[in-house]
Amino acid sequence: MRAAFVIVGGGIYGMATAWSLAMRGAEVLVLEARDVAAGASGGLGKRGVRANGRDVRELPLMRLAYDLWPTLHETLGAATGYERVGHLQLYERHHDVGGAAVRARVQTALGIPTTHLEGAAVRDVEPGLTDKVLGALHAPLDGVADHVATTRAYAAAAVRAGAVVRTGAEVTGVVRAGGRVAALTLADGATVEVERDVLFLANGGLVDLMARAFSCALPCWNIYPQVVLSTPAEVAPFRSYVGHLHRPVALKMVPGNRVMLSGGWRGRLNAATGRGETIPASVTGNWADAVAVFPAIAALDIAEATADRAEANSLDLVPVIDRVPGASNAIVAVGWTGHGWAIAPALAPLLADWALDGEAPALLRPFALSRFPAF
Ligand SMILES: Cc1cc2nc3c(=O)[nH]c(=O)nc-3n(C[C@H](O)[C@H](O)[C@H](O)COP(=O)(O)OP(=O)(O)OC[C@H]3O[C@@H](n4cnc5c(N)ncnc54)[C@H](O)[C@@H]3O)c2cc1C
Repeated sequence: MRAAFVIVGGGIYGMATAWSLAMRGAEVLVLEARDVAAGASGGLGKRGVRANGRDVRELPLMRLAYDLWPTLHETLGAATGYERVGHLQLYERHHDVGGAAVRARVQTALGIPTTHLEGAAVRDVEPGLTDKVLGALHAPLDGVADHVATTRAYAAAAVRAGAVVRTGAEVTGVVRAGGRVAALTLADGATVEVERDVLFLANGGLVDLMARAFSCALPCWNIYPQVVLSTPAEVAPFRSYVGHLHRPVALKMVPGNRVMLSGGWRGRLNAATGRGETIPASVTGNWADAVAVFPAIAALDIAEATADRAEANSLDLVPVIDRVPGASNAIVAVGWTGHGWAIAPALAPLLADWALDGEAPALLRPFALSRFPAF
């Protein structure tokens, strides 16, 4: 096997970048260890498309993504489940008032319309909130999307545009020659020649692979974000996508009138299965946070809880996007830290530009590996 551009990983980043490259006439091969959306781009519920509260370095990307999400289903010719429900970032502590006011100004100036709501104004948006909430940042252009449908939509569009996707193709090593990656080796012993560039977009699979193949220790490690799904509610306890400044909750209403709870509590690696698993006390702990925010959730039960999807976390909580040290034709994008989904439609075309044109796009420069002195 050979290809001009080879992408390792078949999640949202692999598929959206493959689509962008193929749409520009490039020859692309995607190597995916298991199946499309087998990693963090798959699993239960929906993913948040959120600018509110995001690191300021990522906001210009999110601004671009705002323009793409509403019509992405038309662009790709398949449903994405995108809904612009707005996001509330709540706070219950008096000392958070000043920061919220500043953040509202900064976000709005960067093209993310944000209102600082205080007191009763928050309950005008979500009447079911606890009266302990003192205020919130409201970003009405935020929303949610169906991550599995969107990733598959990108994959189908990439294939229509000429990309080749190989599933069950786990990359286990690289063959280097003259300061570049000449080929990749697969678990089944096959070799894939890389004629131009290789993009490592394999998220939770990358920390080990990069260390093994390049002696390149990324400033990242794997986490296993927890997702809890409720039994169906007779009346939805809320409508917006809801986060919190100091309680680790992200609350979404998902199909079937269920509450999806994620946002910070994590599972752990089960060494025997190689997958993440939940920690019972973390599931009940997270649920207690959700009930503290929306008391009506107490009437629902936990229907499902999982932590089976690995996500690479970075030390400063924003991604690492750079050329791989010592390999002039290799780009790595990793370390999404639980919030890589929303910006993917804006960021993946920039990865394709970088591979095709050779220049790091200005919007990606804040994410260079060199920001970590030891790496
Ligand atoms: C539970 C959970 C909730 C989240 N919620 C949000 C949210 O609300 N908003 C948001 O913006 N983000 C959210 N995120 C983060 C977001 O989903 C991820 O950042 C994003 O999906 C990462 O996409 P990816 O393509 O880089 O990785 P993945 O989707 O993980 O894809 C990587 C792929 O690489 C494959 N792979 C691994 N190793 C190899 C190898 N050696 N060879 C070949 N293939 C390999 C894997 O099988 C996998 O399919 C959440 C993540 C999780 C887990």
